[in-house]
Amino acid sequence: MPGMIDNPEVPREDWRCMEVADLLEKHTGQKTIVCEMCGEVTIRFVHIMEHDNFDEVLGVCVSCAEKMTGDEANPRRVERGIRNKSAARDEWLARHWYLSVRDNWVVNVEGVNMGVFPVKFQNGLWSCRIDNKFFKGMYPSAEEAKYALFDEYWKTRRN
Ligand SMILES: [Zn+2]
Repeated sequence: MPGMIDNPEVPREDWRCMEVADLLEKHTGQKTIVCEMCGEVTIRFVHIMEHDNFDEVLGVCVSCAEKMTGDEANPRRVERGIRNKSAARDEWLARHWYLSVRDNWVVNVEGVNMGVFPVKFQNGLWSCRIDNKFFKGMYPSAEEAKYALFDEYWKTRRN
């Protein structure tokens, strides 16, 4: 599909970035898209752009995001942050998780003990804890519960 860049009705400037999304994390089934502006680059990290005078939201590459916002610094910086998080997230499941005697999956991360466990009386649902702090959330799989732990770990790590 050719990019919007060839369409004269599409504004060139004054776009805003709503979010930089990692398509792999979004579980949409689609792991990459072709940049909707230039139509040339296949991207996993998508800058989602909106414009006051244009009805559609566009998913674009970092170079197009720079041109569309006139901002040479932030699109790349924001994408780098998202990439770092995604790399850590990709490694998360590969950490040394072990099965405890009570059938919990447990991992030690930087001296903190974390675990995911099946929820009692909730068939098939999982929850998680960091040390003795138990989460309220329930997740459809052990993997999803592990990712919930990751999100929490990442938040505390950044502050
Ligand atoms: Zn592009």
